[in-house]
Amino acid sequence: MDLGLAGKTAIICAASSGIGRACATVLAEEGANVIINARTAATLEEVAEDIRARAPGVSVTIVPGTVTDPAVREALVGAAPQIDILINNAGGPPPGDFRDWDRDTWIAAIDQNMLSAIELIRLTADDMAARGFGRIVNITSSAVRVPIPVIGLSNATRAGLTNFVFGIAGQFSSRGVTINNILPGPFDTGRLRNSKEITKHLTANPVAGRIGDPREIGAMCAFLCSVHAGYLTGQNVLMDGGLYQTGV
Ligand code: NAD
Repeated sequence: MDLGLAGKTAIICAASSGIGRACATVLAEEGANVIINARTAATLEEVAEDIRARAPGVSVTIVPGTVTDPAVREALVGAAPQIDILINNAGGPPPGDFRDWDRDTWIAAIDQNMLSAIELIRLTADDMAARGFGRIVNITSSAVRVPIPVIGLSNATRAGLTNFVFGIAGQFSSRGVTINNILPGPFDTGRLRNSKEITKHLTANPVAGRIGDPREIGAMCAFLCSVHAGYLTGQNVLMDGGLYQTGV
């Protein structure tokens, strides 16, 4: 199937590793020009080289910095004359006990995992609608469907983003712009490998008998961004191999 992505321009946030990197790679392989972001320029340039090798002919632009910085968000949107696709992503907030989280901890999580995405939608959605095509995909978490006690900051901020998106998706549907969320269950990324607390809650997936490959999210992301997915908006696409059935 031709996804119709050739020549489109996509911003992919938090793309130097894991899910974001997989989304950027698959979109580029399908012919989209990609503007990739993560906090460290050197790492991002390595990823850009890898994508250029896999997808010769597309343009790969790097915009280093945290998505919580308004200047970085402006630079992402300004990196090309028009943005057709926006993939919102960021690192997950730290696990822990809610009794230990003060106001600053909460604000940092809301900023990174909710407001940065909303701001990038604000900066792009109206222009997409004016041109009659746009795709916005937010990487959230299966915790939106089944909250995971140890990652309360994630449960809360992603739920906030999800309900915000549901509230606005209808404004854009008739003008060719869709906004959807992908909810990963356990996927084989640095996030999972580097956090023992998260790992013990997530690596056991008795239903699927394995954890997910980030490229599976990349492929879903590419389909949601394709010309074939224009009638699909305001949805939560849960990708957890059926794990929700266990209530984990
Ligand atoms: P990862 O650690 O492999 O990659 C995270 C990426 O985000 C890296 O490129 C990192 O440099 C970048 N990043 C972190 N904070 C950033 C910021 N403020 N601004 C810009 N870039 C930033 O993690 P991943 O597993 O790919 O996770 C991506 C998202 O998906 C996270 O929010 C995570 O919580 C969520 N998620 C992951 C899983 C999983 O099983 N891997 C499950 C549910 C949800």
